[in-house]
Amino acid sequence: MAGHEVDVVVVGGGGMGSAAAWRLAGRGADVVLLERFEPGHVRGASHGASRIFRVSYGEPVYIRLAQEAHGLWRELEAESGVPLLTVTGSVNHGRTPDLDVLADAVEAAGVPGQWLAAEEAAERWPGLRYEGKVFFHPASGRLHADHAVAALQERAAALGAVVRHRTPVVSITVKGDDAVDVHTGDDVYHARRVVVAAGAWTEKLLGGLMTLPPLRVTQEQPAHFTPLRADDAWPSFAHHRDGEFGVYGLATPGEGIKIGFHGIGPVVDPDERDFRPEPRQLETLRDYAREWLPGVDPDAYTPISCTYTTTPTSDFALDRVGPIVVAAGFSGHGFKFVPAVGRVLADLALTGERPDARFRLPAF
Ligand SMILES: Cc1cc2nc3c(=O)[nH]c(=O)nc-3n(C[C@H](O)[C@H](O)[C@H](O)COP(=O)(O)OP(=O)(O)OC[C@H]3O[C@@H](n4cnc5c(N)ncnc54)[C@H](O)[C@@H]3O)c2cc1C
Repeated sequence: MAGHEVDVVVVGGGGMGSAAAWRLAGRGADVVLLERFEPGHVRGASHGASRIFRVSYGEPVYIRLAQEAHGLWRELEAESGVPLLTVTGSVNHGRTPDLDVLADAVEAAGVPGQWLAAEEAAERWPGLRYEGKVFFHPASGRLHADHAVAALQERAAALGAVVRHRTPVVSITVKGDDAVDVHTGDDVYHARRVVVAAGAWTEKLLGGLMTLPPLRVTQEQPAHFTPLRADDAWPSFAHHRDGEFGVYGLATPGEGIKIGFHGIGPVVDPDERDFRPEPRQLETLRDYAREWLPGVDPDAYTPISCTYTTTPTSDFALDRVGPIVVAAGFSGHGFKFVPAVGRVLADLALTGERPDARFRLPAF
């Protein structure tokens, strides 16, 4: 089995791997992207028509990464001709100190944001009911996840990358600091670097090759609820609830209002999933909709199934060990950062430049 000689192999064609291939090919590297499933598959974490984009974080390192991503999303839109980021504004509400931390960090970073009275928010977005203070950040909005992944792969290929679907990587063999073999069922790739962005499958592929942070893989189950009034405006939103599950949501054109609890799904083996919503949790989500979303029909909903891969701190793991670059643990909040994470992974693979200490191994 002779095999292929390449600069960089990227394992995983979700948001992160596709963005890495785009940035690497854009910098002239000879790249192969290997994805185990078909284009547009729904078994990982990057499928569907909506993800919240926001710059509003309580931590400056994430604000900076989101600001970089914002510019790169617009660059990808210009390159591909596909609209991906729709600015709708976003609101965070609740009775927790988190909101003040977030608002202070946003202000310190010079990102536009303002406090609204609950009545004013209800006038602008009558589909939601508000608790406590409401923080509005106008530059936030919605990303189209499926279109983004397709555009990243299409652009990577246009820039010279080879994109292979239905090609599972079965093992990785480290041959030296600058040499690694990547094995698929019937082939081997000899490369200087491998970027592993395998989402829920990271532990299975890399567990024996490096010390990873604990990665908890859960099956999450938000749902789309039917809006009662077609012309209601909807921001992206997050409800911070002391001692209770946080709730996020946004409008998905043509599908309804998506709401979900953040990171409370059952722990699963990504190869043994049932893709079925856990009934009690679904009932709790409908109860939440009944109480806090007067703009939707709590009895008309479509469940969604998706995986989170969560680290103990919800910080991402972005680092390099020998010839292996790892991108893991996006903890249910990674999509907005996709193109900027792609840049970080290209740096790690091509120049060895490491990201902020917060993302490094073993920061966990
Ligand atoms: C319900 C839900 C809602 C979310 N909402 C938001 C949001 O509003 N805003 C936000 O910013 N983020 C959100 N996220 C998080 C975000 O979607 C993820 O952080 C992001 O999609 C992770 O991308 P990934 O590329 O790491 O993972 P994935 O998309 O899972 O990609 C990993 C890929 O690797 C492939 N793979 C695995 N093993 C192999 C192998 N051996 N060989 C070849 N290929 C392999 C898999 O098939 C998969 O395609 C949400 C996530 C979920 C689940």
